This record gives sequence, structure tokens and C-alpha cells, in this order.
Amino acid sequence: MVALGRQVVVELYGVKAELCADSKRVQPVLEEALGASGAQVVRSDFNTFPPNGMVGTVVLEGGHAALYISPESRFASVTLLSVSAQVDVDGAVARLGKGFGAERVDVREVPCGEGLESETTTERNAGDAEVTHRTWFTEFDVGMSLSLELDGEMLFHDQSDFQDVKIFDTTKWGRVLTLDDYVMLSTRDEYVYHEMMTHPACFSHPNPKRALVIGGGDGGTVRELAKHASIEEIVMVEIDAMVVDACRDLIPETACGMDHPKCNLIIGDGIAYVEDAEAESFDIICIDSTDPLGPSKGLFTEKFYRKAHAMLRPRGILMVQSESPRTKIKVFKEVYSFFDEIFGQENVHCMMIHVPTYMPGTWSLAFCSKGPHPLADVDRERQAAFVASQDLNYYNEAMHQGAFALPGYVRKLLGRG
Ligand code: SAM
Repeated sequence: MVALGRQVVVELYGVKAELCADSKRVQPVLEEALGASGAQVVRSDFNTFPPNGMVGTVVLEGGHAALYISPESRFASVTLLSVSAQVDVDGAVARLGKGFGAERVDVREVPCGEGLESETTTERNAGDAEVTHRTWFTEFDVGMSLSLELDGEMLFHDQSDFQDVKIFDTTKWGRVLTLDDYVMLSTRDEYVYHEMMTHPACFSHPNPKRALVIGGGDGGTVRELAKHASIEEIVMVEIDAMVVDACRDLIPETACGMDHPKCNLIIGDGIAYVEDAEAESFDIICIDSTDPLGPSKGLFTEKFYRKAHAMLRPRGILMVQSESPRTKIKVFKEVYSFFDEIFGQENVHCMMIHVPTYMPGTWSLAFCSKGPHPLADVDRERQAAFVASQDLNYYNEAMHQGAFALPGYVRKLLGRG
């Protein structure tokens, strides 16, 4: 059954005597147990009230922990509530037991919004005035967060073998897909990413025929590639069938790509696929992956990009979701150093795109080429005919040009003067 989050009451018996009266020692124990379990601590407040014991509260991003210690009984109680899928609640319980040196740990789970299908509920209070509780989905990053107001019921929520999958409607951003509570797309702005992931490469390449998409389980990238008449086959390798099925059911706007006759969908690991693939077999490769966590970690390695390079035919182009240069600076610099090494810096071009629901809104794509230059080699005639005939929402001749203009801070990160 779907629940809003998890709420546990952890009772710790026989805790270390030296912790019982000293809030300065208890605070780090509690914060470390929570932090190591994926919780983001916002602030905490600890007070001792002799002889009544110690009380502490820890505010978390998406939850809280409340502590009471009775020094006399060497007993502590911690109530932990978290609505973030990134928090390993069971791990936190184990760490609390260890951190407090407890002789016995009793855990009781208290339902937290269990079966709450309607995410926006309306109640009547005593005075019969209408009270509306709005529910927000929040994605957390270091030092900032993005909140989207839900509209109605959670449409899909399940845990696959790889990740937590959610689809829900929002009041302003259309339908949203999240994986492990990170936004993958909103139907209101998905076109930015999907059009820019595909069309600049297709018009820079003289005659793309065979394309490969790694990831991209929502179907948006394949949808855009399939619009190109020269492309005969698109192989798509997505690891998670649950993402594909859920999108087919609930996000047909993007999932339609995967049912295009040109698309050959393989459910499998993109890393393994690339490992065994034939050299020089694709004109365009798009790495449409999640952030480098879980199954996509191996998609952000030099080894993987070398394989992708080898799979490109002469004049082939590799497009990569290269994260935000604002917030993912380490991985951004690292992947471009791999691209420079493998393709040569003159063949590596960073593109800036603006996607409001990809926090912080500034995102990047990497264009890595075995020859074609993204500005000098554009087939302008083909491009103009395409833009005039397709009902696109972001890509056009000027956006193609403009996306390669880099702000100073990005040039500095890339070591491009
Ligand atoms: N545009 C999105 C973004 O930047 O947030 C990416 C969306 S797409 C849904 C990402 C997909 O990559 C997910 O469906 C995920 O299952 C898939 N994926 C992650 N690791 C993978 C791997 N090793 N092989 C194939 N697909 C993978």
C-alpha cells in the first residue's frame, strides 16, 4: 500500500550512561545516525531539564526526529518520521542502536499517511470553514530544493529492482515522472531536453541512419529521433521495464516514441550492451540517463565513454546528459575531462539548456563528435525544412546556435578560457 512516508518509534533500553545527561554528546550521535542514513539535517535543538531528562528535536529535509532520554532509567525514545525516499529508515534505526550503545532496541512503525491516495484533501473544521491541505513533492539537493504542488492522486508509485518510481499530476507542471524522488520529466517542459538531446546532432551529422539511446525509459528521446527521415533504426537500451510500462500507461506523450516502428527496445543494462556491441555501428548515440547514482553510475565512467566512442561510425556523434554545471560541478568537470581525452577537446562541445524542473534549471548536454562541427557543419537546408514542418517547442535554428554559447563560469570549469 502506498504511504506518504515512514514513521518509527525507536525505544532504546540500557543506553550508555555517559550519554544520558550530556546533550553535547547526544546531538552528534543522533545527527550522525540520521546523516549516514541519507537524511539531510536542517537544524537541531537539545535541552536538558534535570531531573526530568533530555529532549531534542532534529529538523530534517522532509521529516523530523524527536528524542527523549530518561537518565535515571538509561532509556531513550526516538520518533523518526521521513517522507523522503532517500532516507534509509531501517539503517537509521540500526545506527541509533549502535550509537547509543543500547542493550535492547524496540521498534514500532506507526502508519504515516498509509493509503493516502488523494494527495490534496479537503476537510471541514468545527466552524464548517473549508480547510485545504496541499501536498507537495519535494526534490532535495545540497542546500536547495524544488517543490511541485500535487494535483489529485498519486497515479503510480512502486519500487522496481532498480529504483523508486512515481508518476503524479501537478497543478502547474503537468504530469511528472520521478525516479528515487528526482524529477525525470514534466510534461510541461520535457521538450527542452528531448529536442536538444537529439536535433543538434541530427543536423550536424551529414546523414544519420542508425541511432542508439541508452536509458531514456520515458521515450522522449526516441520520439524526437524518429522524426528524422534519414534515421532507419533506433536501438534503445533501458534497464528498468517498470519505467517503460508506467510511462506507456500514463505518459503517452513521450512513451509513444518507444512504439514507433523504427524503435527496437531492449530491456537491459546499457553498460553490458555497450561492452558487447559491434564497433562503428551507430551514427548517433544518446546517453539519456539518470544522475550517477544506482544503475547509472557506470554510465559516467571513462571506460563506458571509450566503448561508446568505439561504437560510433566515422563522423558519428555522442550526446550525453552531462548534469548541471551549477550544482553538479565535480561530475560535470570529470565527464568533460573524459570527453576531451577520448574525442579531443576540439571535438567536444558543451550545450546549455534551461529546464525549470531540473533543479536548478540550468542543465547541460555534451556534444562529442568524430568529425562534424555543431555550428560549421549544420545542414541548414534540412534543418530549416524540419523546423518548418515539425511542431517543435524549443529547438529552432537560433536555439541550436545559442545553446553552444557558454557563460564565463562554465568556460572556466571546462578550462576553455
Ligand atoms: N532526462 C532524464 C534526466 O536527466 O533526468 C533522464 C530520464 S530517463 C527516464 C533515465 C533512464 O535511465 C531511467 O529510466 C533509468 O532506468 C535509465 N538507466 C539508468 N541506468 C541505466 C543503465 N545502466 N542502463 C540502461 N538504462 C539505465
